[in-house]
Amino acid sequence: MAEGRDPVAALEAQLAQLRGQFLQRLEGTLEHLGTQLGATDTPPSPEVLQETHAELHRLAGTGGTFGFHELSLQARRLEVQAKAWLGADASIAPAEWATWKAAVLALSHTVAAAEPAAGGLADQVWVGIAKGLEDQPQVLLVHSDRHLGDDLRRGLSQFGYDVVYCHDLAQARQRIEARTPDLLVLQLDDAAGNSPGAGLFATLPRGRRVPVLYLAAHGGVALQLAAAHAGADDFLPLPVDAPTVAAHIERLLGMVRQPPFRVLVVDDDAMEAERCQLTLQAAGMTVERLSEPREVMATLQRFRPDVLLMDLYMPQHGGAELARAIRYDAQWQGLPILFLSAESDLDLQYQALDSGGDDFLVKPVADARLVAAVRARALRARRVEELMTRDSLTGLLTHASIKERLAQELDRASRQRKPLAVAMVDIDFFKRINDSWGHPVGDQVIKTLGHLLRQRLRRQDSVGRYGGEEFLVILPECTAADARRVLNDIRLRFAAVSFQHQGHSFSVTLSAGISSSESVLSASELLANADALLYRAKQDGRNQVLPAAV
Ligand code: GH3
Ligand code: MG
Ligand code: MG
Repeated sequence: MAEGRDPVAALEAQLAQLRGQFLQRLEGTLEHLGTQLGATDTPPSPEVLQETHAELHRLAGTGGTFGFHELSLQARRLEVQAKAWLGADASIAPAEWATWKAAVLALSHTVAAAEPAAGGLADQVWVGIAKGLEDQPQVLLVHSDRHLGDDLRRGLSQFGYDVVYCHDLAQARQRIEARTPDLLVLQLDDAAGNSPGAGLFATLPRGRRVPVLYLAAHGGVALQLAAAHAGADDFLPLPVDAPTVAAHIERLLGMVRQPPFRVLVVDDDAMEAERCQLTLQAAGMTVERLSEPREVMATLQRFRPDVLLMDLYMPQHGGAELARAIRYDAQWQGLPILFLSAESDLDLQYQALDSGGDDFLVKPVADARLVAAVRARALRARRVEELMTRDSLTGLLTHASIKERLAQELDRASRQRKPLAVAMVDIDFFKRINDSWGHPVGDQVIKTLGHLLRQRLRRQDSVGRYGGEEFLVILPECTAADARRVLNDIRLRFAAVSFQHQGHSFSVTLSAGISSSESVLSASELLANADALLYRAKQDGRNQVLPAAV
């Protein structure tokens, strides 16, 4: 394979190179320590002791990061002693000093004895570049009730999922061996919460995140806890209908499928920052690093990270001070800030958190732990952001957010000289649905259309809930003709959804009007044109997209 083509091999090569650089620097540091402590057996000046302490502190952190665990442990032990001496009034006993100094000078032996292969990343980190999701996600459904299996398979396929139904575990295992599904839906069996599916977890390949949704006999706490115990990501009590399961599947896949998390790493030690960057990149994140703390504000503004990972001790401006300054700006008050430092003093850690940090990771941090800590924070931050900009019923952008998005997309389309299409979609005779089946059923219909729109559109398209049962769709880089075809396909799929309520089944249709930046230029004209065509579609008998697809 050509050099640099295989991302895993390329990253491993970068890691090995970085470890080599670290080893070189380490030799310099140890040599410097030896010279500094000198040949005399008298304790040094406080300044020299201070400097030595700082070096040991750094070694304790970076040594571990680069896989020199014994060095890291010894340096930590010696650092603690140095710190105690620095804080004490009494002078250092010559014998104690001699022992300590000998141990510092012996640090180089731990380097020679270190395992040579310790520079790679832990297996469980390799998820980001291992495999992307298929366009049509495959859902493996394991349930002993064949009726339910069949119903769900048919219902979910209307939402674009490829559902493989297995009646028992032996069959499921075979399927998983043939192809890893993107999601598992499993039966949580008896009242005690025993799950025949729990064993299936072990069949899944390591390093690949496959979300699991449990279907349980009822929604009681005992079963919820049983599901949590088995490690399920989500839980639904029976009976279930396809739109509800589809909504849960979408949320779960969204956790795996969302755009890469963005992480800014601030560390004055460039090697340490690079090691951190490579680890997070291997886990599929987009990472920028910064060794100059003064540039942090400008970089935040431009890069807009989901998480800020920051060293605590840096010359001039420490991490705690930076965190405090960042929080002065309202737009960064929700930004998760994680400190990464060799500081093992709990009081100092709490002080750092008090100044505006969210968590504290003590160096050396295992790769998998670093990834997990960053991912958890980023995920939560995105959820909060979503709650603020998304409509709670459908999860679509709110009226204000979708209008803002339209302005941004139109701006980009005109800069790039690309077409942009807009569709206004409205459910037909929706009042009748509310009147016949009740408001909650009406809500379910709205949710279903919202979900179908997201499912059938591309990732770069935006969908907003413009009004009660009215939706606005923005399709960048899309001609009016393509938009008509896509919306017409959605119209047909929506009409094919069979809604169930108290033993009755019914279907619903929609109408849409489409306009495009090929003919008009301002956002308000685009909206007005789409709206006028929607009105005409309603007048002309509904259940159609105008202009009609050719
Ligand atoms: P048309 O085919 O002309 O669009 O007829 P329609 O009945 O769909 O149109 P109209 O706009 O007159 O009615 C929309 C109804 O949608 C009125 C309102 O009560 C209902 N509605 C608005 N928001 C919600 C909601 O969040 N949930 C439910 N269940 N109903 C809603
Ligand atoms: Mg309507
Ligand atoms: Mg309406």
